[in-house]
Amino acid sequence: MTPNKLSSNRLPLNNPTSVAPVALITGITGQDGSYLTELLLDKGYIVHGIVRRSSTTARNRLDKLFYDGDVHEKRLFLHYADLDDSTTIRRILISSRPDELYHLAGQSHVGASFEIPETTCRFTAMGTLKLLEIIRDLDKQPKLLHISSSEIFGRPDTSPQNESTPMRPVTPYGVAKTFATQMVTLYRNSFDLFACNAICYNHESPRRGESFVTRKITRAAAAISQGKQDSLSLGSLDGRRDWGFAPDYVEAMWRMLQQPDADDFVLATGKDHSVRDFLDAAFQTVGLDWEKYVQQDARYMRRSEGAQLVGDPSKAAANLDWTATTQLPELAKIMVQADLDALK
Ligand code: GDP
Repeated sequence: MTPNKLSSNRLPLNNPTSVAPVALITGITGQDGSYLTELLLDKGYIVHGIVRRSSTTARNRLDKLFYDGDVHEKRLFLHYADLDDSTTIRRILISSRPDELYHLAGQSHVGASFEIPETTCRFTAMGTLKLLEIIRDLDKQPKLLHISSSEIFGRPDTSPQNESTPMRPVTPYGVAKTFATQMVTLYRNSFDLFACNAICYNHESPRRGESFVTRKITRAAAAISQGKQDSLSLGSLDGRRDWGFAPDYVEAMWRMLQQPDADDFVLATGKDHSVRDFLDAAFQTVGLDWEKYVQQDARYMRRSEGAQLVGDPSKAAANLDWTATTQLPELAKIMVQADLDALK
């Protein structure tokens, strides 16, 4: 089969004699989706992924697997559907019969959510509810992992935040994620689904989207050091985030679905840093002083912003035996190094 062909109507899928566990991932082409796919394939899973239909195929994070003849269409299957296309999503769930469903898809950019709040809610909020409704009707109900976000806490009164901190979102993305998170809990309690929220703080990697501040900084540090860029325009340098490393977070997501009972977990490093701290770490990697290159630009300032977002991962440490091992400044170094390699 040629690489671009749709596979959903001919698969499938699950060989009834096979004992390999089956996972379905929404948002498989994203940063987390691609790392999770690698993790699950390593563990012997058959992986199905849902890819958003668009005129361009943003699949580059999966390219290595996609062009691997031993993997694609053998242990990794891609299906095309938008999250609000309930009929197609239902069909994919019925044919693939997953044991585990990792729901990672959605408009995930906080800044962009102010410009496209309706799209953000359509996919992030309603997309999750539609998925829950489909699962509710299935004979074989997969365990569900929903990726939630620290943005649900908005401007919390307490720091660090944990699984009991009240949700008080202050961005359209945060409001949409709060709706989705509460629906997952509601379906767990009301319809007895094995459904969990991974309340993730920011997690970055060389595969992070280029408009997020970390990747914007590491690409600029690499390009400036190679004489390919003169300056970097940013918004607020005072914003603080709890930044971890994406591969650590997908490991925790998998562990959550291996627990005897469904539950919600905060996934975080427990330490917050400012954008300035990230700039320090990234530019140090290439031996430059960021203050000479960075300018502030009103276009990148947020209309409102959460504050003091730092997570308390102690429940994940106790129950999942998990910690976010890669943190700043190593995280920035890994990302700058990858961006340097890409330039060469
Ligand atoms: P998120 O807002 O947590 O999803 O992550 P971002 O990477 O988009 O932003 C993290 C922090 O960086 C926020 O406090 C932003 O206000 C701040 N920031 C400063 N300059 C920029 C910029 O140019 N782009 C982005 N995306 N964020 C910026």
